[in-house]
Amino acid sequence: MKHNFDIEKSYDEIREKYETYLRDYGVRMLSLCTGNRYTMSALVLVYFYNHIGEVVSKEELTTYLRDMGYPTNDVQSARHLAQQSGWYIISGQRGDVECKERNVGPGEYMLLTVEKPYPLYTKLKRDGDLKANDWEELKARYGFRCATCGSKEGESNYHYRSTITKLNKGHKDPSKPLTLDNTIPQCEFCNKASRNYFIFDNKGRVDRIYDPNFIMRSDEEIRKLMLKILIEDNLNEAKKILSELGNNEIED
Ligand SMILES: [Zn+2]
Repeated sequence: MKHNFDIEKSYDEIREKYETYLRDYGVRMLSLCTGNRYTMSALVLVYFYNHIGEVVSKEELTTYLRDMGYPTNDVQSARHLAQQSGWYIISGQRGDVECKERNVGPGEYMLLTVEKPYPLYTKLKRDGDLKANDWEELKARYGFRCATCGSKEGESNYHYRSTITKLNKGHKDPSKPLTLDNTIPQCEFCNKASRNYFIFDNKGRVDRIYDPNFIMRSDEEIRKLMLKILIEDNLNEAKKILSELGNNEIED
């Protein structure tokens, strides 16, 4: 079956919308690839994006993933995309309030928009949002500088001299809401460069990895070393994963 859209181009469009409309709500952007393979959740998101406002059935998604070389019987991504990542995908099974009006039945989904987050997710995350005063106070604590590179708000950026520095609310830990103790001011370059790869400390230094896909950007030698470390440290888990992979079924 031929699918009539460009995955990479769609993904770039989604990322752009995400930066404009969704990022500040704590919605999670998904990695397009792990190694040289597309991730299943990114493929599902791209599929929805190309059928925005249309009913998408579970069968349809399964067929698409199979065509893309991902044999799976249980597409969970659609459900997770809303509840765990904040994308506005309604589910007939879950019985979201919009389903009736949109004719979305059990086993069916619909991506309503990429300009608003999934409402329940928003509520969850926004409870911890910074008030304007707190944000000004937090910036003052950092001398109105990017916690990571030190560029000063309103002055030319250290790394991009022709750009005037604007400070963004950077997550210290991207899995948690933007509360006062989970926020650092970062210039748009430092904020964008890290995406959601890392967890930062108060000084804007990388503390640990948040998105495991970041490991795939390391040299092969380092990846193998990490693999060895992880296997030695989690032998039983590693055996389990290997036997699952032996089934030739890839679940998300
Ligand atoms: Zn910076």
